[in-house]
Amino acid sequence: MNNRTPLIAGNWKMHKTGAQAVEAASRIKTLVTSATGVEVMIAPTFTALYQVGQVLKGSPIALAGQNLHWESQGAFTGEISAQMLADAGCSQVIVGHSERRQFFGETDETVNMKIKAALSANLTPVLCIGESETEREAGNTFSVLDKQVRDGLNGFAFDGQADIVVAYEPVWAIGTGKTATREQAQEAHRFIRNLLDSLFGKPFASAVRILYGGSVKPDNVKALMEMPDVDGALVGGASLDPETFSKLVFFN
Ligand code: PEP
Repeated sequence: MNNRTPLIAGNWKMHKTGAQAVEAASRIKTLVTSATGVEVMIAPTFTALYQVGQVLKGSPIALAGQNLHWESQGAFTGEISAQMLADAGCSQVIVGHSERRQFFGETDETVNMKIKAALSANLTPVLCIGESETEREAGNTFSVLDKQVRDGLNGFAFDGQADIVVAYEPVWAIGTGKTATREQAQEAHRFIRNLLDSLFGKPFASAVRILYGGSVKPDNVKALMEMPDVDGALVGGASLDPETFSKLVFFN
């Protein structure tokens, strides 16, 4: 047993207009209101953040951005800062999602700058890491995770306060319908926790939540959540429908 509160997080990616996001958030709020002992987060698109934040006000559901820029302001057309996310009502932000790494040139260095920017604005970063299919088949899963954690959290020092969430998302399992087995997830999560222990110490490593992401659905969430180092889920596709998402929140 550990005392980490499970976190079920929905990443809506580039889905839902403002009105659709408000409707879904209102429904989720109603459906998960009686969930106890589980934290819930949703990450709508930037344009829906403020409206969804208004819906979630007074509820325990956290609002998150899907990305941020590392500068607080400036001539960076199309970008959003940590301060702007906080202003829109966010308390968390997803950093380094594999789609950002694959399609938008995100590197461990930019991820690191974003983690620092998030923390300095009191946003909890959800650091996404994970190997591609080719990397797994070549036997490089652990070296990939090692580099992503070390470089992504470079310069971070645990002061007893900072809240960081790590999401292990094998790239081959995202949006593909292929889920890692719970043994594969546990093996990766244990590796990450041990690495965090060696880098930042036991108090941090034993408190940090490590989420699994990759085709999590109502029919596989319970088995994954039973693993000792799986502390929650980061969910794409199955978070879009409020009824399905609420089944994940009530995984027990
Ligand atoms: C994700 O995008 O973080 C994700 C895990 O997507 P899906 O649940 O659709 O695989």
